Amino acid sequence: MSHTLRLAHLYPDQMNIYGDRGNIIALQQRCGWRGILLVVEPVQVGAAIDWQRYDLAFFGGGQDSGQALIAEDFLQRQAEPLARAIEDGLVLLAICGGYQLLGHYFITHTGERLPGVGVLDVHTVGGKERMIGNIVIEATLSPDAPPVQLVGFENHSGRTYHGPRVRSLGRVLVGYGDNGEDGIGGSIYRNTFGCYLHGSLLPKNPQLTDHLLLLALKRRYGTATAQAVLTPLDDTHELTAQRSMVNRLRA
Ligand code: GLN
Repeated sequence: MSHTLRLAHLYPDQMNIYGDRGNIIALQQRCGWRGILLVVEPVQVGAAIDWQRYDLAFFGGGQDSGQALIAEDFLQRQAEPLARAIEDGLVLLAICGGYQLLGHYFITHTGERLPGVGVLDVHTVGGKERMIGNIVIEATLSPDAPPVQLVGFENHSGRTYHGPRVRSLGRVLVGYGDNGEDGIGGSIYRNTFGCYLHGSLLPKNPQLTDHLLLLALKRRYGTATAQAVLTPLDDTHELTAQRSMVNRLRA
């Protein structure tokens, strides 16, 4: 394999619910089909990471209790180097509990305050009712691309509110989204994406998977090589499943 990408999987033991690990499998599979090697390395509690080695990172969801186990380590060990890597264009996908810890803070529904690392200008407050169900968002992945309808499954008590330094990933067509109030579904800052779509998200939405890979390849190898290496795949089955889910949920 002539091209290699390296992915850091943040706290896979504590932060991995509702099939979030499937996102890594989807990235690996879609790389493999193109002859790209995706090396996945776990980031465990206590690890010192050289973030410059990485092209991508993934931070899955977790129960409030799982988040509490790693929040302090994430803040103390990873916050500063991770923030620098994000400014430098690291491609990062964070789902639900991971998304919440990228923001300024998360106050759980029992009133516990978990510090976030503040690389995303969002904060989260737990509510009494959980927001559970299938979700569809219309996402604008990049300003020059047509919107795509992404499907997923959400299950969270946290309500995430945006500040001015993030842009919305998309608007909610079905479901609750970030807070169940303003119709916003997820956020983007540079190449960092946060949202509440489990499911797993990436196997169900190949457009987003390839968008993340393209960003990572461009950063590592330049635009021309990235476009040449990320050859089109036959996504007939994936897109049929995605469309039928959107149609059923919107009916
Ligand atoms: N514990 C968080 C909440 O309920 C995140 C849950 C999740 O990752 N699904 O808001």
